Amino acid sequence: MKAILFDLDGVLYVGSQPITGAAQTVKWCIANGIPHMFITNTTSKPRVTIAAKLAAIGIDVTEDRILTPPVMAVQWLRENHLDRLGLFVSDITRQEFSAFTHVETEDAKVDAVVVGDMGTGWDFATLNRAFRMLMQQPSPYLAALGLTRYWRAEDGLRLDAGAYVAALQYASGAEPVVMGKPSRAFYQTALHQLGVSPEQAIMVGDDIKSDIDGAQQAGLKGVMVRTGKFHESDLNKGIKPAAIIKSVADLPAWWEGNVM
Ligand SMILES: [Mg+2]
Repeated sequence: MKAILFDLDGVLYVGSQPITGAAQTVKWCIANGIPHMFITNTTSKPRVTIAAKLAAIGIDVTEDRILTPPVMAVQWLRENHLDRLGLFVSDITRQEFSAFTHVETEDAKVDAVVVGDMGTGWDFATLNRAFRMLMQQPSPYLAALGLTRYWRAEDGLRLDAGAYVAALQYASGAEPVVMGKPSRAFYQTALHQLGVSPEQAIMVGDDIKSDIDGAQQAGLKGVMVRTGKFHESDLNKGIKPAAIIKSVADLPAWWEGNVM
């Protein structure tokens, strides 16, 4: 075992509150020369904002160590020569797609409909516009910036991109191309950057499906934390994490007892 992938929200912080011991764990990683990356399904913030948020809680990270669905989506759209986009993402994520043509109405031709977390930006008219774009002939691609169903905000659980992707998939019949966790390709992109194989890496997360099952399907070991959105009932879903720890603060002790 050589490398560690960290989920962010629910593992290193919840909202604006750091998880106690998170900064020390990342410092331990750096001190021990353990290759690591931060992989998140967050589509409401660009990498520069995420890096600043981590710096504010004592975690030093360069932007290239953060993998987000928009970063992977931009690569994929370029490789597939898809330029005309129906963009259903937050205003701040929209900037990451500035090199593409943005289509605003369902009457104009669209190559791909990109769906992320728009938070309170969703309403019937917006969702229906995405649906109408997907019903064009020939059918555009449905590019999903993650399939996360919900997340824990400071005021409670909130719907995430996956819920809207599922609605659009159900109505239009389009098969989504998934750019975030739990997609195997997303994990592979991070491992490739670290130069390690899946068996050499663990994924630390609070989401039993996206983080633990997704990582284990991709060949990594999933380490579940009991923080963030963790709920005891997650352990009755037929998915067995390689380890369950109280919080990311306990990761060095677990690693030293099981890996080193
Ligand atoms: Mg999380």
